[in-house]
Amino acid sequence: MEEKINLRLICIAFIALVLTALSTSYIYYQAFEELIYNNLKADAAIITKAYSHLDSYDNLLDFNSDKLRITLIAPDGTVLFESNTTQTMENHLDRPEVLAALSSGIGEATRKSDTLGYNTHYYALKLEDGNILRLAIDADDPGVMFGKALPAIEISALIIFGLSIFMSVLLSKKLVSSFTHMISHLDEYDPAKGYKEFKPIADAIKTQRSDLIQAQNMRQEFTANVSHELKTPLTSISGYAEMIENGMVQDKDIRDFAAKIHHEAGRLITLIGDIIKLSELDANDSAEESAPVDLLELAKNVEAILAFSAEKHHVSLSVSGDSAYVLGEKHLLEELIYNLCDNAIRYNKENGEVHIGIKTQNEQVLLTVADTGIGIAEEHQPRIFERFYRVDKSHSKMTGGTGLGLAIVKHIVLHHHAEISLKSTVGKGTEITVVFQKANPA
Ligand code: ADP
Repeated sequence: MEEKINLRLICIAFIALVLTALSTSYIYYQAFEELIYNNLKADAAIITKAYSHLDSYDNLLDFNSDKLRITLIAPDGTVLFESNTTQTMENHLDRPEVLAALSSGIGEATRKSDTLGYNTHYYALKLEDGNILRLAIDADDPGVMFGKALPAIEISALIIFGLSIFMSVLLSKKLVSSFTHMISHLDEYDPAKGYKEFKPIADAIKTQRSDLIQAQNMRQEFTANVSHELKTPLTSISGYAEMIENGMVQDKDIRDFAAKIHHEAGRLITLIGDIIKLSELDANDSAEESAPVDLLELAKNVEAILAFSAEKHHVSLSVSGDSAYVLGEKHLLEELIYNLCDNAIRYNKENGEVHIGIKTQNEQVLLTVADTGIGIAEEHQPRIFERFYRVDKSHSKMTGGTGLGLAIVKHIVLHHHAEISLKSTVGKGTEITVVFQKANPA
């Protein structure tokens, strides 16, 4: 991490340096060019004032300096005077600055000089008599200017590099040590003292850690509960068997004892079955592929399976609604409806009712299981989906409950990305609704 930070900071310093050198050179050259033209303009103004008083064009030589070149050009391009040479010059009508001065009064141009590394800057002015006064001066071209500035750039580059390496090492060391300190002192971490940017990381680690502890506690609690739940029927089975073995049960009562053993063994089998289902759901380990499933069809299957139980509890069971498809695993969805209806029958009252409703609403399918049973007090409502949580343990056991039915329901709901809600009033009944996303039939 430190190396990466260092390397990046050095790269940034290098890029910044190159960009600064290039942009400064460019801006400086622009200013330099402007200065040259301003000087040429000032010189031209002076010469123009003196021009009308000159006896001969050759007197223009008086204004010449070692760098300044003065040329006087007739409107037809003929060179009337040239300060640098006495030789006859070629016609200058093709020169851009001359053409510009002829048409608009003033012309400027820059051309590469014959001498390497120089540019010649021209400034041309149309005089009152129609002639063109042209001034020219040689100056360094941008490359040469940059070359001259290079030693200074190199020295500043070295200084900046040195500084950026020093700063980046310092910064990354501080960053890494603050991070390590934060990790090892997570609980006392104070963002006001360290980097405030670390706060979300510290919070995320804390949440993850407490989630992990919570999961571990839940697992421990579950294991303890499972052991306890398994032990109770097994102790009864062992006790009844021991009594028979020791001849403590009269022959006429043997059948009753066998029935008790059978009942307790049945409870064990149901309990183990529920534990297996939960652990499969926990591991997201399912053999079935998701497919469009008709909830109405499943509800009718469950109605048929539970018809006998409903009759035994003197409860009427009914289904209503239209076909409605959701994407999911058929056996899990049937288990969900079964568990909700089984509870609705078992926690019902004499001559009570259980109703399964399937309804499509926009893009959602609503499954509702409503009963006219004993209801659930408000303080228990948030907890009934926990594993082994029972409002009335003896009622649950008496009716064959394991305390895992709603925990399985909750898992199946999550597995199908659905949502579950509960409305219940003690003495009046309970209504549980599961909302699924609608799917198209296969
Ligand atoms: P159990 O096997 O004990 O029924 P569940 O997980 O299915 O376990 O339900 C947890 C508890 O929630 C039950 O013990 C019961 O107290 C309460 N409960 C669930 N469904 C209903 C219902 N329809 N009416 C009243 N109480 C209910």
